[in-house]
Amino acid sequence: MRTLLALGLVVAALVYWEARRELGLDHRLSAIASEVAGRPVHVDCPGFIRGLVDISGDGGSVMFGPDGKPSDTTRLETSVCGDLAAYRKTRRRSDFACVYGSVLCSARVERTVYAALILSHESQHLRGVRNEAVAECYAIQMLPLVAQRLGSPPEEAKAIATHFLVVDQPLLSGDYVLPPGCVNGGSLDLHPNSADWPGG
Ligand SMILES: [Zn+2]
Repeated sequence: MRTLLALGLVVAALVYWEARRELGLDHRLSAIASEVAGRPVHVDCPGFIRGLVDISGDGGSVMFGPDGKPSDTTRLETSVCGDLAAYRKTRRRSDFACVYGSVLCSARVERTVYAALILSHESQHLRGVRNEAVAECYAIQMLPLVAQRLGSPPEEAKAIATHFLVVDQPLLSGDYVLPPGCVNGGSLDLHPNSADWPGG
């Protein structure tokens, strides 16, 4: 009986600790998404239990109502949340310098870059952009901001956006292929007067 009680306390402590950790992460990611979306929004990471059965494979999602307006919350997948939670730790690894180059990095580094892109992409949906290709185009351009808020210095954050555009984006297909206007000075350039691309 005493063993059961002790076990119960350990489980309760673990659940409490996990809930606090998740809440802290949600809070931090919500602040970043709100900055990108230009309005108060929420990022929802799966808790421990939902995480066990979370295998949707899309990275994240935002629901749109019949009026064409987005909900205030994006649900991110367990693996994406995990990579975002470990962002600061991963960027301190020596192999993270690979983001300054234009060849495929280690799986862990690519996953981290991709997780930051997903946060940026879902934030575009929360901003009201429904079209996947347009959301992707804006997401890459706002990736330097997102990467900075996640813990990267400005130069590294810009390198991450360029790395994603050159290395990862060409691997995507279907709805996620960038539209013709998604070029420096094109119709989807968020800063048409800046020579920097995709970060400015
Ligand atoms: Zn999308």
